[in-house]
Amino acid sequence: MSGPTLLPGATGLNGDGQQTTLGVLGGGQLGRMFVHAAQSMGYFTVVLDPDVISPAGLVSHYHIKTDYLDQQGLAQLIQRCAAVTTEFENVPAGALVTLGGARPTAPSADAVAIAQDRIKEKAHLARSGVPVAPYAVIEAAADLAAVPDALLPGILKTARLGYDGKGQVRVNSRAELAAAWDGLKSVPCVLEHMLPLAAECSVIVARGSDGTCVHFHPQLNLHRSGILAVTQAYEENMPLALADQAVTATKAIANELNYVGVLCVEFFVLKEGSPERAVLGALVVNEMAPRPHNSGHYTLDACDQSQFDLQVRTLAGLPLTQPRQHSAAVMLNLLGDLWVNGATPAWDQVLALPGTHLHLYGKLKANKGRKMGHLTVTAADAAQANAVALQAAKLLGMAAF
Ligand code: ADP
Ligand code: MG
Repeated sequence: MSGPTLLPGATGLNGDGQQTTLGVLGGGQLGRMFVHAAQSMGYFTVVLDPDVISPAGLVSHYHIKTDYLDQQGLAQLIQRCAAVTTEFENVPAGALVTLGGARPTAPSADAVAIAQDRIKEKAHLARSGVPVAPYAVIEAAADLAAVPDALLPGILKTARLGYDGKGQVRVNSRAELAAAWDGLKSVPCVLEHMLPLAAECSVIVARGSDGTCVHFHPQLNLHRSGILAVTQAYEENMPLALADQAVTATKAIANELNYVGVLCVEFFVLKEGSPERAVLGALVVNEMAPRPHNSGHYTLDACDQSQFDLQVRTLAGLPLTQPRQHSAAVMLNLLGDLWVNGATPAWDQVLALPGTHLHLYGKLKANKGRKMGHLTVTAADAAQANAVALQAAKLLGMAAF
């Protein structure tokens, strides 16, 4: 269901006579930053998340604390809000279908269903005419036997519910492949050929229901142990022709889906001179996220509109204008590992550096690998942003990049 323009501060748009309220499924950090953006424009917000101390629930006007498929919880959400979005792709499809029948939802249940299943996602990417890593679908033992030798070494990925490198196993031989599939409980998977990566990047676009599509310049991303560690965002982070190609591919993917909302597409840049690059070209699509993305958090501080502002606009049917980046930026992800023996990192020392913007998500437990927050360094140019970010990383005990 797509709907009318939902102006902030209007009354009577949602069922309860309150001022316009926007809803979000999921109460993590992405939901929290959506809530902040919506509230700063004057919207009321409602979060649905079973966790009673979720990062978004803590800052929202309303927090419905039920399971995503709880009919009462969904009914309350429909009653409270004028439109609803999601902050994670693993939201049960049934929840979005129910909501979509009653309220405008962006992205649509169909788009989320594709993004949450690597098998459907690969098929969609192929339809969009963008290169993907050579792959095979593994759903039965017979599929293992049919895997061509050329796919090894490879990465076996569960079709559903993987994130931050979870649900993935690297395999070098057929024996390892069989053992890995067994280890993943023989759920549907894709086996991807292991590509020689020179770099990884991502593109974030926002597309409205009228087809208007705006974008941010591609981000250069460094992952450690399957988790995003550092994002470098400035014009010189990659050759311009490659950046254009990535943006064009992302828009093609969004158009093919008739997508409404914020979409992030992750890419691999292949090593120059590699046989894979000779066949596939320099740029290969990895995966997409039907929501704002960790690699776009710098837009909060370095752009005149953030990815979350654009999420609000697409949801409310407001106009989209091309965002402008006004500062070079480097973002460091702050994982729970930094809280050594529970001690609070020396934020005062970090914040003494110029152009530092600290964002903590209000999570109480600093577990290893858990995303607790991020630090964005903005500067007049890339060299300065990198230099300060390296100093911050050193102060925090993070590896240099
Ligand atoms: P997740 O959903 O966990 O983000 P990804 O599919 O993006 O899963 O994989 C996580 C990381 O693993 C990627 O960012 C990349 O560094 C590496 N990776 C994934 N697939 C491949 C591949 N086919 N070839 C080389 N590296 C890969
Ligand atoms: Mg990824």
